[in-house]
Amino acid sequence: MMATTHVFVGLAAVAPAAYAAPDLAGPLAVGAVLGGLAPDVDLVFEHRRTLHFPVLGFVVAVPAVVLAVLVPSSLAVAAAAFAVAAWLHAVTDALGGGPEMDPWTDRSERAVYDHVRGRWIRPRRLVRYDGSPEDVTLAVSLAIPALLAFDGWITGVVVAGLVISIGYAIVRRRLVAWLPDWLE
Ligand SMILES: [Zn+2]
Repeated sequence: MMATTHVFVGLAAVAPAAYAAPDLAGPLAVGAVLGGLAPDVDLVFEHRRTLHFPVLGFVVAVPAVVLAVLVPSSLAVAAAAFAVAAWLHAVTDALGGGPEMDPWTDRSERAVYDHVRGRWIRPRRLVRYDGSPEDVTLAVSLAIPALLAFDGWITGVVVAGLVISIGYAIVRRRLVAWLPDWLE
C-alpha cells in the first residue's frame, strides 16, 4: 500500500470526528497524517517490524481515544489521531502485499510483524502491491470523506496526495526496470 493510502486511511478514520467538531479538525488532520506515515520510518531499521504494531497498536490507540474524548485538548486529539492512524497503518499492511519492490518475480511472505506471537503475518494481498489499481482506487475512495470533512490547507494536502498517488501508480510497474540493481 502506498504511503499516501496509509495517510488517507488515517484521515478517513478521523473524518467523522472532524465533521462533528470542526474546531478540532487541524489537530485531527496533523495527527492522522503523521500517524499514517510514521510506521514506515522503520525502513532504516527492520522494516514492518520495528515501528509496526498491528496487534499491540490498540493498547495505545484505545486509551488515547478515551483520553481525547474526556479531555479534548488539541494535543490529546492529535495524539489520539496519531495512535489510531499508526495502528491502522500496521493492520492494513497485513491486508496488502509484502514490502518487496518487485512482487512479480520476488514475492515475500512477510507482510508485518506480530510482536505478541513473535512471528510474521503473511500478506493477505487484497491490495496486491503498492501503486496497484486497487491501491489507487482505495486511495481515491478514502480521500472523499477527507475532502468532505476538512477544508483549508488539509484539502491541499489531500489533493497533492491524490496527484502523487495517481502519478506513482502510472509508473509503478516500470519503476522496477528503471531502478539500479543494487536498490532492489
Ligand atoms: Zn508500513
